Amino acid sequence: MEQKNVIIIRYSEIHLKGGNRNYFEKALLKNIRLALKNITCSVSKYSSRYFVTDYNLDDENKIIKLLGTVFGIYSFSRAVQIKSDKTLLFKYFENFNLTSQTFKVDTTRADKSFPMNSMEISREIGGIILEHNNIKVDIHNPQTTVYIDIRENGFTYIFHDFIKGLGGMPVGTAGKGLVMLSGGIDSPVAAFKIAKRGMNIMAIHFHSFPYTSEQAKNKVIKLAQIVKPYTQIYKMIVIPFTKIQEEIHKHCNEEYMITIMRRFMVRIAEKVANTYKCQTIVTGESLGQVASQTIESITSTNSVAQTLPILRPLITMDKEEIIEISKKIDAFETSILPYEDCCTVFLPKSPIIKPKLEKVIKEEEKLDVEFLVNNAVENLEEIIID
Ligand code: ATP
Ligand code: MG
Repeated sequence: MEQKNVIIIRYSEIHLKGGNRNYFEKALLKNIRLALKNITCSVSKYSSRYFVTDYNLDDENKIIKLLGTVFGIYSFSRAVQIKSDKTLLFKYFENFNLTSQTFKVDTTRADKSFPMNSMEISREIGGIILEHNNIKVDIHNPQTTVYIDIRENGFTYIFHDFIKGLGGMPVGTAGKGLVMLSGGIDSPVAAFKIAKRGMNIMAIHFHSFPYTSEQAKNKVIKLAQIVKPYTQIYKMIVIPFTKIQEEIHKHCNEEYMITIMRRFMVRIAEKVANTYKCQTIVTGESLGQVASQTIESITSTNSVAQTLPILRPLITMDKEEIIEISKKIDAFETSILPYEDCCTVFLPKSPIIKPKLEKVIKEEEKLDVEFLVNNAVENLEEIIID
């Protein structure tokens, strides 16, 4: 075939990598193939670019949408690939329609055996476009730039759109984290954000049946499914949390309810993380957003994690910024469904805003922490996210 539709994909930060660039490039190739697994097409890599080829033109929009979910992609373009041949190239532009008012041609010639230099090609092709379209040349501020990319593989790529990708790093290149996923707005965004840096994720959810309903749990599963195309999240651990909450409620000063509850969550999350070989715990906390997210509250929950760091991708983000991402990834409508979260059960009238660690520890001494933690972990439920 003389002419072929292709999609050219460019990556983002990977080009900063030195010796292990290959590792990142391979991961991205795998992830692009994974994203397009239900589409008939092939994906290949050539000289720091990826090419989607051999697809049905009807699937083009679907492919573009799917590429928009892959971390590590900087941009992509719909292009036409032709053999690098002067006559073919000129002929191609005789039927080339542009609807904008101004344009310029930008040629790159990596293949020095092509018999014209890039300036000459841009000028000649510009002339052909002018002849066949009602359009003007504007070198400095064109509405459309027509790119002609003559590569060393014997092919020339022609394109004029740049679609922005998500950026970030390919999922699978930055270890594995356990995301504390609630049914709220923040934690799915935290999952999205940490995966954007290349982290593989699993989720843990604390469920307080019957205080929180089956619907509440299904909502969290739904949220995990929503972030799956971006994050490849494959598993969620559900922890029965009722007993712990009842015990705290029964024995501890209610002002400390939330702080102590959070400390239990972190202890359990750390155990589960270690079991599933996760290297960090990830939360959706944002500094000062609520009483349990002041620096004092964070200090008192942070201190129970003994071996793993807790990452908080949203720590500096405003609620509006978080909501913007939540909407962009289509999680928002699900996040705002009005089911109880375990944190709203037994909610004290006035939670302590700046808990003192010694006091928290003193309150906690009224409980058999180790037994409660182990008991919860022993009764975990594994849910596969598909
Ligand atoms: P979100 O919108 O993520 O629910 P939030 O603004 O409601 O967050 P909190 O309820 O204080 O804030 O929770 C802070 C973080 O603790 C959450 O982002 C989440 O990572 C974790 N978390 C809270 N509740 C649960 C739960 N039931 N299961 C798992 N993690 C939870
Ligand atoms: Mg919440």
